[in-house]
Parts: sequence; structure tokens; C-alpha cells
Amino acid sequence: MSPDRDTECIFCKIADHEIPSEIVHETDTVVAFRDTNPQAPTHILLIPQDHIEDLTAITDDHGQVLADIVHAAAHLARAEEIDEGGWRLVSNVGPDAGQSVFHLHFHLLGGRKMSWPPG
Ligand code: 5GP
Ligand code: ZN
Repeated sequence: MSPDRDTECIFCKIADHEIPSEIVHETDTVVAFRDTNPQAPTHILLIPQDHIEDLTAITDDHGQVLADIVHAAAHLARAEEIDEGGWRLVSNVGPDAGQSVFHLHFHLLGGRKMSWPPG
């Protein structure tokens, strides 16, 4: 089955390989690619193949794809050799969190010491 896409969405275009990006992981349900403005030595974005706006649009039907994203993040953390030092998986929702792209994405960040709480 072909994924649900939004023709105006930049991350749908990346998932379609219509816009070039450094894709590091790709399955039927998940795409992961390096952020163009990295905030850490490893900064990878993980997205569902289907266009889902953000975490507020998640329903019971999305359980599998969320699990797939988390498994992919753990796999990539090992591949990037940040698993021992530790890593962060974060999704920004809405203006206060700084969401700027409206296709659900999780930032996988690692490779440096991070502060808490985030700024
Ligand atoms: P948000 O601010 O919505 O949490 O995260 C959006 C992220 O997407 C930002 O970190 C930004 O650098 C990244 N980004 C925006 N446009 C592109 C793009 O065309 N390609 C890639 N690889 N990353 C992008
Ligand atoms: Zn999209």
C-alpha cells in the first residue's frame, strides 16, 4: 500500500526522494534522515512514511508506527555509537515547543553532553 502523502509537505517530499536528504534508515513505515541544521554531533529526524501532522493527531491506529520509530531510533543510536553515552528522542508540538514542520518527527540527538531542562 502506498503511503499517505501531503503534496505541500517538505517531509513527505523527502520521504518520496523528491527533495534530496541524507537518508540513514528507510522501511515501509519509517524514514530517518540527518537534520540540515544539526544541534548535536548526531542529529537525525525520524518520521512516519504517512503524513501525520504531529503527536496531537495520534490515534489508537498509530501504535505500530510509533513502536517502529522508537525501535529505529534505538537501532540508529547503536549505529551512530552514541548508545553508551546516551541519547535523546524529542518531538516538538506547537509554538512554545518550537515546532516548525507539520509532519510528525522525532529528533534523535546525541554525541555530546546535554542539559536538562532543555531551553
Ligand atoms: P521542529 O522545529 O519542527 O521540531 O524541527 C524541524 C527540523 O527540521 C529542524 O531541526 C530543521 O533543521 C529540520 N529541517 C527543516 N527543513 C529541512 C530539510 O529540508 N531537510 C532536512 N534534512 N531537515 C530539515
Ligand atoms: Zn508530510
